[in-house]
Amino acid sequence: MQEPTKISEDAMGKLLDSEKLEHCFECGICTASCPVVKIISKHYNPRILLQTVSRDLERAITEAEPWLCAWCDRCYKRCPQGLNLPEIFLLTRNIATERNYISRFSEALETIGREIPFPGVCGLVCFGKVDIPGAIETLERYVADYELKVRPEKAVPTPKKRREKIAVIGSGPAGLTAAYELARKGYQVTVFESLPEPGGMLRWGIPEFRLPRKVLDTEIQRIKCLGVKIRTNVTVGKDLTINGLLKDGYKAIFIATGAPKSRKLRIEGEKLKGVMHAIDLLREVSMGKKVELGPRVAVIGGGNVAIDAARAVLRLGAKEVTILYRRSREEMPANPWEARHGEREGVKIQFLVAPKKILGKDGRLVALECMRMELGEPDESGRRRPIPIENSEFTIQLDTMILAIGESPDPSVLPKGIEVTRQNTITVDPITLETSLPGIFAGGDVVSGPATVIEAIVAGRKAASSIDDYVRGGGS
Ligand SMILES: Cc1cc2nc3c(=O)[nH]c(=O)nc-3n(C[C@H](O)[C@H](O)[C@H](O)COP(=O)(O)OP(=O)(O)OC[C@H]3O[C@@H](n4cnc5c(N)ncnc54)[C@H](O)[C@@H]3O)c2cc1C
Repeated sequence: MQEPTKISEDAMGKLLDSEKLEHCFECGICTASCPVVKIISKHYNPRILLQTVSRDLERAITEAEPWLCAWCDRCYKRCPQGLNLPEIFLLTRNIATERNYISRFSEALETIGREIPFPGVCGLVCFGKVDIPGAIETLERYVADYELKVRPEKAVPTPKKRREKIAVIGSGPAGLTAAYELARKGYQVTVFESLPEPGGMLRWGIPEFRLPRKVLDTEIQRIKCLGVKIRTNVTVGKDLTINGLLKDGYKAIFIATGAPKSRKLRIEGEKLKGVMHAIDLLREVSMGKKVELGPRVAVIGGGNVAIDAARAVLRLGAKEVTILYRRSREEMPANPWEARHGEREGVKIQFLVAPKKILGKDGRLVALECMRMELGEPDESGRRRPIPIENSEFTIQLDTMILAIGESPDPSVLPKGIEVTRQNTITVDPITLETSLPGIFAGGDVVSGPATVIEAIVAGRKAASSIDDYVRGGGS
């Protein structure tokens, strides 16, 4: 690291001016809605951290706490004053980085690592966010050092064995966290996973350039060391059923199957060759398959998945990668630093543009007809509604078009009798995560819809605790 520098005028100015820090009236909604608080309430409290940042920034930057915001945005979405806490904490981390306090990130990792099985993963995709060029590499080094220090087989004490068997369906962060917690309580846990390797979106969605698989593999190894069995290439609902698992003596089941289905655009030409879904593309790339895209690629959408897909496409050798988003930068759901990373690498973003018709020749996409948009009144999401501008159509020539307009759970694998919402998410008791069927619990993206790693981890912990209560209570 370089010598300590003066806090950059720019970062400081932005922090103190752009956010109305003093407008916080300390209602505590941020803290109540924060998933990190649910894991380490003694070490992290966004309401108090915000106070420290606004009253004593010099102290805030020297502490580990700003590195524990996981960027799920729950606090921001719920704050009655609209305070963008994650952005404030990001700026605080930027300043801490400039002032050489970046090593506090290691303390944050150690604190969270005592409680969850994925500190390294979260360090990279949740906590290790900072918008200073070059700093990401330093943070990655801290994660690698941390992983070396915590040797898998020494990480957790051997639990006292219980004889009850529990099944977990899906090996993403929700399923594996539940498996880890249940194994620590002594249960015999088997995880069933339809894909060839465990990890869920950590392995098949988030690109390797953001989450090296070595980190994920080390952390999964720690879980296996507890005796958790992971059976891959088994799709529950097809190869075996939930009722079959119950008959086989599993006392409780946790469904953590995520949100793997891509939303459709529903415009002409969507079935043409050359049109693909972002999570399919990212999965193919993660599986090491060869993907031919051609030189001109457009990605439709404004979320993190769109940015990941665009950055992955650049790495596959495309010459021109353009994200088309129908609202403006302000409404973009992607984390701002992720968008900036993509732009620094060469991804172009066109705002206020929506696809209208996909044009093809001989069954293959050749161009996309788009429309310019303007913003109207806010819609139910709170963001200003995009409205097409009459006669604004224009066409762009394309070799591949990638859709990243949202994901949803796949209800087709669920047993009869499980209640689902109109969005295909499973309905659960919010306290216990039990579904409408006794002894069957669900959590993670399959309940919340697409969310974040930290929220999936919290759901896994909650489910494990409820399953323990359920089994100890005699299973009813
Ligand atoms: C491209 C991308 C980038 C992301 N980036 C971030 C990020 O930077 N930070 C962040 O916090 N979050 C990020 N997320 C979101 C995060 O990955 C998810 O919220 C999280 O993985 C959800 O965890 P989960 O365990 O609920 O489901 P998943 O991770 O989706 O895991 C579900 C697992 O269940 C398996 N499964 C499904 N059906 C069956 C079945 N019938 N039988 C057996 N197995 C089944 C699936 O194969 C999968 O392995 C990203 C998501 C994507 C797609």
